[in-house]
Amino acid sequence: MRPEILYPLFAPLRSLPGAGPRIGQLLERLVGTRVGDLLWHLPSGLIDRRYAPKIAGARAGVVATLTVRVGVHQPPSRSRQPYRVRCSDDSGDLVLVFFHARSEYLEKIMPVGAVRVVSGVVERYGPELQMTHPDHIVDESERNRLLTVEPVYPLTAGLTGKRLGQLIRASLDKTPVLDEWLDPAYFARQGWKPWREALEQAHAPKTEGDLLPSAPARSRLAFDELLANQLALALVRRHIHRVKGRAIRAQGRLGQKALDTLSFTLTESQRRAVAEITDDMAADARMLRLLQGDVGSGKTVVALMAMLNAVESGAQAALMAPTEILARQHFATIGPLAAAAGIPLVLLTGREKGKSREKILKSLASGEIPMIVGTHALFQEAVAFKDLAMAVIDEQHRFGVHQRLTLAAKGRAADVLVMTATPIPRTLLLTAYGDMDVSRLTEKPPGRRPVDTRVVPVDRLEDVVAAVGRGLTGGAKVYWVCPLVEESEVLDVAAAEDRYRHLRGVFGDRVGLVHGRLSGAEKDAAMAAFGEGSVDLLVATTVIEVGVDVPAATVMVIEHAERFGLAQLHQLRGRIGRGTADSTCLLVYAPPLTEAARTRLAIMRETEDGFRIAEEDLKLRGAGELLGVRQSGQPAFRVADLAHHGDLLAAARDDARLILERDPGLETARGKALRTLLYLFERDAAVQYLRSG
Ligand code: ADP
Ligand code: MG
Repeated sequence: MRPEILYPLFAPLRSLPGAGPRIGQLLERLVGTRVGDLLWHLPSGLIDRRYAPKIAGARAGVVATLTVRVGVHQPPSRSRQPYRVRCSDDSGDLVLVFFHARSEYLEKIMPVGAVRVVSGVVERYGPELQMTHPDHIVDESERNRLLTVEPVYPLTAGLTGKRLGQLIRASLDKTPVLDEWLDPAYFARQGWKPWREALEQAHAPKTEGDLLPSAPARSRLAFDELLANQLALALVRRHIHRVKGRAIRAQGRLGQKALDTLSFTLTESQRRAVAEITDDMAADARMLRLLQGDVGSGKTVVALMAMLNAVESGAQAALMAPTEILARQHFATIGPLAAAAGIPLVLLTGREKGKSREKILKSLASGEIPMIVGTHALFQEAVAFKDLAMAVIDEQHRFGVHQRLTLAAKGRAADVLVMTATPIPRTLLLTAYGDMDVSRLTEKPPGRRPVDTRVVPVDRLEDVVAAVGRGLTGGAKVYWVCPLVEESEVLDVAAAEDRYRHLRGVFGDRVGLVHGRLSGAEKDAAMAAFGEGSVDLLVATTVIEVGVDVPAATVMVIEHAERFGLAQLHQLRGRIGRGTADSTCLLVYAPPLTEAARTRLAIMRETEDGFRIAEEDLKLRGAGELLGVRQSGQPAFRVADLAHHGDLLAAARDDARLILERDPGLETARGKALRTLLYLFERDAAVQYLRSG
């Protein structure tokens, strides 16, 4: 149960005064749904309002806070002119300028003769000093409140800095003082402030330096977050290791039968991975292993070998995929191989319903079905195994420590193998998986040819269409990936449908369409048509990003490539270049490119090395490209920035280990504070492992 002291932070954000439906909705997209989510929305800049000269002495081009007496109002005589309010002090005159002004409003807040404090950039036009749209117009009594350094927050359209600032202030006011969870010696050495004070400081930058990730307040908050993350992972890991493992001994007979039907032999690194997994399974301890390999490196076969080992020993195995499309695809590729080994395979997704679902559940529980592939439908409570010994989780680049464990918990000390396609840099690996064992597929299957990647401005779209046409004539299969519209699946789909109509107009009915809003059956049909023949050009949203395998596809067009994160571009491109034919990827962009977008496209053109791309991605996202963060599926840190806080991460890991050695149940005063920390960062699931031990 969440500690009561945190309740105010978990209250709905819309409960704050000033966060009505419209603002509330904007905020929810920007920061989240809870009051506490506002706390982590830190300033990206500052405005120093402490400069308070007399009018005559005010420097042009600088923000100044001036105390003035309101003179005459001069409404515009023609509609395009601004509304002007003449003001003065004993040194000179200042004209306040407003475009599209509402005169009643201005008359109300600035009655003639009143004294007002205005703050904004002062400009000089000939002899006249002006301030256009002052940021603040307040009574003299509020002068001191204004004469500070004001934080500037990242905004979203429709939300003003002023309103956001007020709401963040309100959330800070609701923030409780919490007992210290940091190690006293470490805390003292770093010279940090207590949590509540550090938060205040982070929201009240005084200098540019205070905005840097290395600023003490931000470092402290980042460390807290990393500590919560590492402690949660340590708890999960301890829990897994406490449950005694079981020794799965298999000769690899079934695996060999499956391999015999393949037209290829395993690569050296696939062989090594299979050996590592087989050893782990044979050992008493429970396996918790990550199978890391770039897109197309051939993880599926390796997983199948592990599954068949479990089945050979008389137990069951399950493979869970992140999407319906992918589950079906795994089912289609693994099914025949399993069949060759004499092992039936079934599929369970949200779409298996009624009688057929009942039947599957029954035969899983009875052990009649030894091997199953599915989506997260496998997590459902109704799903019970007779004896699950191997849980494979293909999560590509979607992390989820807790989900992973739910499936494993359905077995008796089941071994867990997590497959991930993104070659995760070491630092991230640590935050997402803690100290998992890792098998790496370092080579691609032989015969693969590099993908020729080109970057094309959108005004040459007709050339792209023509090139695609030549490709189609030559027998190519083509993916056409449509732009990512900000956070809105509806808009994504509309864009994809437009492009689909356009291309269908050009190429006729060999053009297909797949997107996230289609029903499962429609998606399957679209994918099948592309995989098997009648469709040669598949217009798609990013639903094809994860794992889709059509080896004959050799051309990919990505529209608005500048909007995608690096990891995502790499994932998408990994859909082609899977066969032995030459492949081409056209990254179509709309100028002007931001610096970061230019770099991303350049990296894509330069390399297909997933590790290099992942490292570059981390560096770039450190630079704070919001889109990259959201799209990349990296674990969502709110304050911590791994490009800058790598050393804090290592410290947090060591600290977490030490904490659990000294205070395994988190029972001491510090232990209790640490529990609160876990709840604060919503690592609740980890807390349960304290009890279940
Ligand atoms: P990923 O690691 O992206 O999941 P897959 O397991 O989907 O990769 O494999 C990609 C493609 O490579 C599949 O078509 C698969 O049959 C093929 N493949 C896997 N291993 C080998 C190999 N050793 N030699 C040749 N082709 C292979
Ligand atoms: Mg795969």
